[in-house]
Amino acid sequence: MQGYTHFLAGAAIEHGLREKVKNKQARFALLAGLGIATHIVLDDIARLTYHPPNAMPGDPFWLSYHVFVAIASLTVFVAYRRYYVGMLCSVIPDFDWIIRPIANALGWTWWREGSLHGLFRSLPGLGAVGRHLTKDFNWTHLPTAALVEIAIATVLFAVLVWLDYKHSPPPKAEKPLAENGEPVHPV
Ligand SMILES: [Zn+2]
Repeated sequence: MQGYTHFLAGAAIEHGLREKVKNKQARFALLAGLGIATHIVLDDIARLTYHPPNAMPGDPFWLSYHVFVAIASLTVFVAYRRYYVGMLCSVIPDFDWIIRPIANALGWTWWREGSLHGLFRSLPGLGAVGRHLTKDFNWTHLPTAALVEIAIATVLFAVLVWLDYKHSPPPKAEKPLAENGEPVHPV
Protein backbone atom coordinates (compact mmCIF):
# COMPACT_ATOMS: atom_id res chain seq x y z
CA MET A 1 0.00 0.00 0.00
CA GLN A 2 1.00 3.60 -0.46
CA GLY A 3 2.27 6.01 2.19
CA TYR A 4 -0.97 7.97 2.61
CA THR A 5 -2.93 4.77 3.46
CA HIS A 6 -0.33 3.60 5.99
CA PHE A 7 -0.20 7.07 7.59
CA LEU A 8 -4.01 7.24 7.90
CA ALA A 9 -4.01 3.79 9.53
CA GLY A 10 -1.23 4.81 11.97
CA ALA A 11 -2.97 8.08 12.86
CA ALA A 12 -6.28 6.22 13.47
CA ILE A 13 -4.52 3.68 15.72
CA GLU A 14 -2.86 6.42 17.82
CA HIS A 15 -6.07 8.47 17.95
CA GLY A 16 -8.00 5.43 19.19
CA LEU A 17 -5.37 4.52 21.82
CA ARG A 18 -4.55 7.95 23.20
CA GLU A 19 -7.52 8.16 25.56
CA LYS A 20 -7.51 4.48 26.46
CA VAL A 21 -3.82 3.78 27.21
CA LYS A 22 -2.38 6.50 29.43
CA ASN A 23 0.97 4.77 30.12
CA LYS A 24 3.40 6.10 27.50
CA GLN A 25 5.60 3.00 27.25
CA ALA A 26 2.62 0.65 26.94
CA ARG A 27 1.08 2.95 24.32
CA PHE A 28 4.32 3.06 22.32
CA ALA A 29 4.62 -0.75 22.40
CA LEU A 30 1.02 -1.06 21.21
CA LEU A 31 1.54 1.57 18.49
CA ALA A 32 4.60 -0.29 17.19
CA GLY A 33 2.92 -3.71 17.33
CA LEU A 34 -0.38 -2.64 15.81
CA GLY A 35 1.36 -0.35 13.29
CA ILE A 36 3.55 -3.20 12.01
CA ALA A 37 0.67 -5.71 11.95
CA THR A 38 -1.62 -3.31 10.07
CA HIS A 39 1.17 -2.48 7.63
CA ILE A 40 1.73 -6.14 6.73
CA VAL A 41 -2.00 -6.82 6.26
CA LEU A 42 -2.45 -3.65 4.15
CA ASP A 43 0.60 -4.53 2.02
CA ASP A 44 -0.79 -8.02 1.44
CA ILE A 45 -4.16 -6.71 0.26
CA ALA A 46 -2.29 -4.34 -2.08
CA ARG A 47 -2.87 -6.92 -4.85
CA LEU A 48 -6.35 -5.42 -5.01
CA THR A 49 -4.83 -2.04 -5.82
CA TYR A 50 -2.70 -0.42 -8.54
CA HIS A 51 0.80 -1.23 -7.29
CA PRO A 52 3.29 -2.23 -10.02
CA PRO A 53 6.32 -3.81 -8.29
CA ASN A 54 8.81 -1.79 -10.34
CA ALA A 55 8.96 1.95 -11.02
CA MET A 56 7.63 2.91 -14.48
CA PRO A 57 8.52 6.63 -14.80
CA GLY A 58 7.90 6.47 -18.59
CA ASP A 59 4.23 5.58 -18.02
CA PRO A 60 2.10 8.78 -17.74
CA PHE A 61 -0.47 7.15 -15.40
CA TRP A 62 2.20 5.67 -13.12
CA LEU A 63 3.94 9.05 -12.96
CA SER A 64 0.83 11.13 -12.28
CA TYR A 65 -0.49 8.64 -9.69
CA HIS A 66 2.83 8.68 -7.86
CA VAL A 67 2.89 12.49 -7.84
CA PHE A 68 -0.60 12.27 -6.26
CA VAL A 69 0.70 9.65 -3.78
CA ALA A 70 3.60 11.92 -2.75
CA ILE A 71 1.33 14.97 -2.27
CA ALA A 72 -1.39 12.95 -0.47
CA SER A 73 1.16 11.29 1.86
CA LEU A 74 2.74 14.63 2.77
CA THR A 75 -0.67 16.25 3.28
CA VAL A 76 -1.85 13.44 5.60
CA PHE A 77 1.41 13.55 7.58
CA VAL A 78 1.23 17.32 8.07
CA ALA A 79 -2.52 17.37 8.79
CA TYR A 80 -2.27 14.58 11.41
CA ARG A 81 1.21 15.46 12.72
CA ARG A 82 -0.11 15.21 16.30
CA TYR A 83 -0.17 11.44 15.68
CA TYR A 84 3.33 11.33 14.20
CA VAL A 85 4.44 8.46 16.48
CA GLY A 86 1.57 6.27 15.25
CA MET A 87 2.24 7.27 11.63
CA LEU A 88 5.97 6.49 11.89
CA CYS A 89 5.19 3.15 13.59
CA SER A 90 2.82 2.32 10.72
CA VAL A 91 5.69 2.48 8.20
CA ILE A 92 8.38 0.61 10.20
CA PRO A 93 8.53 -2.27 7.64
CA ASP A 94 9.14 0.30 4.87
CA PHE A 95 12.45 1.22 6.54
CA ASP A 96 13.49 -1.62 4.22
CA TRP A 97 13.78 0.96 1.44
CA ILE A 98 16.10 3.13 3.57
CA ILE A 99 18.26 0.23 4.78
CA ARG A 100 18.69 -1.27 1.28
CA PRO A 101 20.98 1.44 -0.18
CA ILE A 102 22.91 1.61 3.11
CA ALA A 103 23.35 -2.19 3.05
CA ASN A 104 24.49 -2.01 -0.58
CA ALA A 105 26.96 0.78 0.20
CA LEU A 106 28.38 -1.12 3.19
CA GLY A 107 28.48 -4.42 1.28
CA TRP A 108 26.11 -6.26 3.67
CA THR A 109 25.49 -9.30 1.51
CA TRP A 110 23.40 -10.90 4.28
CA TRP A 111 20.79 -8.13 3.97
CA ARG A 112 18.19 -9.09 1.39
CA GLU A 113 15.70 -6.81 -0.34
CA GLY A 114 12.50 -6.75 1.71
CA SER A 115 14.13 -8.34 4.76
CA LEU A 116 12.08 -6.33 7.28
CA HIS A 117 8.80 -7.08 5.50
CA GLY A 118 9.80 -10.75 5.36
CA LEU A 119 10.71 -10.81 9.06
CA PHE A 120 7.37 -9.37 10.19
CA ARG A 121 5.42 -11.44 7.66
CA SER A 122 6.94 -14.58 9.15
CA LEU A 123 5.30 -13.85 12.53
CA PRO A 124 2.65 -16.49 13.21
CA GLY A 125 -0.62 -15.70 11.46
CA LEU A 126 0.38 -12.24 10.26
CA GLY A 127 1.32 -13.09 6.71
CA ALA A 128 -1.72 -15.27 6.24
CA VAL A 129 -4.50 -12.72 6.81
CA GLY A 130 -4.18 -10.39 3.83
CA ARG A 131 -2.78 -13.00 1.49
CA HIS A 132 -5.63 -15.40 2.17
CA LEU A 133 -8.23 -12.68 1.57
CA THR A 134 -6.75 -11.67 -1.78
CA LYS A 135 -5.25 -14.90 -3.09
CA ASP A 136 -7.50 -14.93 -6.19
CA PHE A 137 -6.71 -11.34 -7.24
CA ASN A 138 -3.83 -9.54 -8.87
CA TRP A 139 -4.82 -6.05 -9.99
CA THR A 140 -1.40 -4.47 -9.38
CA HIS A 141 -1.08 -3.37 -13.04
CA LEU A 142 -4.67 -2.18 -13.40
CA PRO A 143 -4.83 1.65 -13.27
CA THR A 144 -8.51 1.67 -12.18
CA ALA A 145 -7.51 -0.41 -9.12
CA ALA A 146 -5.98 2.83 -7.73
CA LEU A 147 -9.61 3.61 -6.81
CA VAL A 148 -9.64 0.60 -4.45
CA GLU A 149 -6.77 2.10 -2.45
CA ILE A 150 -8.42 5.54 -2.50
CA ALA A 151 -11.62 3.89 -1.17
CA ILE A 152 -9.68 2.13 1.65
CA ALA A 153 -7.97 5.43 2.52
CA THR A 154 -11.37 7.19 2.53
CA VAL A 155 -12.71 4.65 5.04
CA LEU A 156 -9.65 5.21 7.28
CA PHE A 157 -10.13 8.99 6.96
CA ALA A 158 -13.81 8.57 7.94
CA VAL A 159 -12.67 6.62 11.04
CA LEU A 160 -10.38 9.53 11.97
CA VAL A 161 -13.18 12.08 11.49
CA TRP A 162 -15.48 9.90 13.62
CA LEU A 163 -12.82 9.65 16.38
CA ASP A 164 -12.38 13.44 16.24
CA TYR A 165 -16.14 13.86 16.64
CA LYS A 166 -16.28 11.30 19.48
CA HIS A 167 -13.46 12.91 21.44
CA SER A 168 -14.35 16.55 20.80
CA PRO A 169 -15.22 18.45 24.01
CA PRO A 170 -18.97 18.91 24.63
CA PRO A 171 -20.31 22.30 23.46
CA LYS A 172 -20.45 24.94 26.18
CA ALA A 173 -23.92 25.42 27.67
CA GLU A 174 -25.53 28.52 26.24
CA LYS A 175 -25.86 31.38 28.66
CA PRO A 176 -29.48 32.05 29.60
CA LEU A 177 -30.90 35.20 28.07
CA ALA A 178 -33.08 37.70 29.91
CA GLU A 179 -36.39 38.82 28.41
CA ASN A 180 -34.67 41.76 26.69
CA GLY A 181 -32.28 39.33 24.95
CA GLU A 182 -29.25 40.35 27.04
CA PRO A 183 -27.18 37.56 28.68
CA VAL A 184 -28.03 37.12 32.36
CA HIS A 185 -25.08 38.18 34.54
CA PRO A 186 -24.62 36.50 37.91
CA VAL A 187 -25.06 38.95 40.76
ZN1 LIG B 1 5.42 -2.01 2.96
